[in-house]
Amino acid sequence: MPSSKKTTLKKLSEFIIRAESLSLGSHDFDYCLNDAFFTFFGLSEIIINGEIAVSLKLTKHSNMLHLQFKLSGNVTTPCDRCLEPLEIEIKGEPTLTVKYGEELLEETDEIMVIPNGEKELDISSFLYETVYLLIPQRNIHKKEQCNPEVIKKLNTLIVKEKSPNNPQWDILKKIKNK
Ligand SMILES: [Zn+2]
Repeated sequence: MPSSKKTTLKKLSEFIIRAESLSLGSHDFDYCLNDAFFTFFGLSEIIINGEIAVSLKLTKHSNMLHLQFKLSGNVTTPCDRCLEPLEIEIKGEPTLTVKYGEELLEETDEIMVIPNGEKELDISSFLYETVYLLIPQRNIHKKEQCNPEVIKKLNTLIVKEKSPNNPQWDILKKIKNK
């Protein structure tokens, strides 16, 4: 990628919907969340990379927009046991309602309020946060698929910890028995 001007944070233009120019009724959009998308939001310890197809059905009403998404794909995240990359499936059907108004009152995960007269809607942050929420809390390789070197090291550490000759273990025991 050419690194001409990376001074200001640019928007991901393909995720900007020109809502004002859409007619009332429903409209379909397709997106792909790829490495460039995830890199745009900065390096993350949770998402190493990914590829997720997104289809969107947007229904425009006179005073609000209703968005129904379908996400399907995968992201690569570090394994919680051996820290090697692990691919996990991502599937979800989140919805988002966009209301127009001056006050930012009832904004939630599913309701976005944008100022009256705003012509564009940027859905990139919503999609990024959605992917984050769809990642399970704990991710580990299936049995036998973890990096064997790391597992070997972990096992020796556990044995050491349990060893009665480990002074730290004695201290812990003393604290526990108090
Ligand atoms: Zn693993």
